Amino acid sequence: MSRELIDLAIERLREDFPNKSKSWVRRALVRFMKNTVKEYGENVWVVRGLPELGDKYPTYVVRFKDGRYYCSCFESSWGLRRKSEVCTHIAAVILYRNYRKLDSDVYASVINIECVDYYLEIPSELKGKVKVVKSVKVVDSSDRLNPRHRVTYVIYANEPMEVRAKLVCDGDVRELSLKLSRTRRYMIELLVR
Ligand SMILES: [Zn+2]
Repeated sequence: MSRELIDLAIERLREDFPNKSKSWVRRALVRFMKNTVKEYGENVWVVRGLPELGDKYPTYVVRFKDGRYYCSCFESSWGLRRKSEVCTHIAAVILYRNYRKLDSDVYASVINIECVDYYLEIPSELKGKVKVVKSVKVVDSSDRLNPRHRVTYVIYANEPMEVRAKLVCDGDVRELSLKLSRTRRYMIELLVR
């Protein structure tokens, strides 16, 4: 497992659950690092119990249904209290899924520009198939009303393809042909963070 990917996977977990304690995150991480999560089927995972974390059963089943997670520990004697919470079995599954997603292949192209005004247009028929994320940093704000930005666009999709795009930078219009080539999902996260 890669440290950088684990850090990103934890970052996503923290963003999704900003009110959870450090110990909650730590316990999820222990479960994940001990390789206790196994995918069992679509939206079903089995998490091996860890006695050192207070687990009383050898395994727990986590399901994802109608937009939320359920864990078999909800059905235990503590279930009533736990039902309203997200247990660390679920948190471990989310970490596992975050990691797998970051580790997966995507096809991407990167554009770096520096402009005051900028715009990138992707043909409308590709919307939904091709995604665009950007990161914007101010590099020169001496003209307060018109600061200059460094913009990184990442255009990506689940399959290799060539995408025609229109890039506007301070009135300069360029027609681009972008070849999306294979990379790992986490590279995109690193580029636009
Ligand atoms: Zn649980």
